[in-house]
Amino acid sequence: MQYDKKIYKTTKLFYSMKRELLIIAGPCAIESKHQLITIAKRLKKLGVTYLRGGAFKPRTDPTSFQGLGEKGLKYLLEAKEKTGLKIVTEILDSSQTFLFKKYKIDVLQIGARNMDNYELLKSIAKNFPTSTILLKRSFSARKKEYLGSINYLKMHGHKGKIIACERGIRCFSNGEYDRFTLDVSFIADLKRDKKFNCDVVVDPSHAAGRADIVEDLTYAGISAGADGMVIEVKLNKNYVPLSDAEQAITIEKLNEIIKNSIKIKKILN
Ligand code: PEP
Ligand code: MN
Repeated sequence: MQYDKKIYKTTKLFYSMKRELLIIAGPCAIESKHQLITIAKRLKKLGVTYLRGGAFKPRTDPTSFQGLGEKGLKYLLEAKEKTGLKIVTEILDSSQTFLFKKYKIDVLQIGARNMDNYELLKSIAKNFPTSTILLKRSFSARKKEYLGSINYLKMHGHKGKIIACERGIRCFSNGEYDRFTLDVSFIADLKRDKKFNCDVVVDPSHAAGRADIVEDLTYAGISAGADGMVIEVKLNKNYVPLSDAEQAITIEKLNEIIKNSIKIKKILN
C-alpha cells in the first residue's frame, strides 16, 4: 500500500512537472502530411504541448528545400485539430500575415536571421498583438540588441507572451564539433535578471548541428535555468529529413531527454 502510494505520488509529480516544462518539438521542416501527423500524434503521447514545423524555411543555400509553404501551414492546422497540440512555425515576411491568421498559428517563431528585422517585428506586433511569439536570438546578438528586439515588439503593440530562445552564437569552434556555440551563460543571465520576465527556452538542435550531443546541450540549458526546450525530431531512426538532417533526434530519444530534464529541474528547484 505504502509502495503504491509512492508510485502514485511520483507519477503525479512527473505529470505536473511535464506541464511546467515548456516543450516545443517537431520536425525542422514539414515535408508531408503523413510525416507531420505521425510525429504530432507521437509527441502528444509524450506530453509535449507545442508542435513545431517550418513551412517557410530560411535556407543558407537557395537550392536547398525551401519548405512546403501554405500547404505546410494547412498540415499544421490539421495536426492541431487532430491532437490538440498548439502549433509553432516561423514567419519570414509580413506578406505571410494573412496565411498565419488563416491557419490559426498559435506561436509565431521569429528566426535567428530575422531577430533584428525591425520592420518585420513592427508588423508582427501590429497584426498579432495577443499571439505568443518565440523570439530566437540572432547568432551575433548582444543582450542589449536582443532586449531591443523585445522592446520593438512591445512598443508596437504586442501584449502577448514572448518566449526567449537561445539557439547558439557564432564562434571559432563552429563546424569543427558544433554548428553554433550554445551560450548557456545567456540563459543563466536572463533567468537571474529580475527585470526580464519572459520564459526562456534552449534550442540544442541548431547549436549542436549533430544528433549525438543534442541531449547534452539540453541538460546544460536546463541546468542553467531554461524553462524548456525547442527540439527537432525525425519520423524514425532511418528517416533522412530534407533539412537539418544531422541534428534530428528520434522521438524515443526525446522521451528520455524530457524525463531527465524533469529530474534536473526537480533537483534545482
Ligand atoms: C529553425 O528553427 O528551424 C530555424 C531555422 O532556426 P534558427 O532561426 O535558430 O536558425
Ligand atoms: Mn532547423
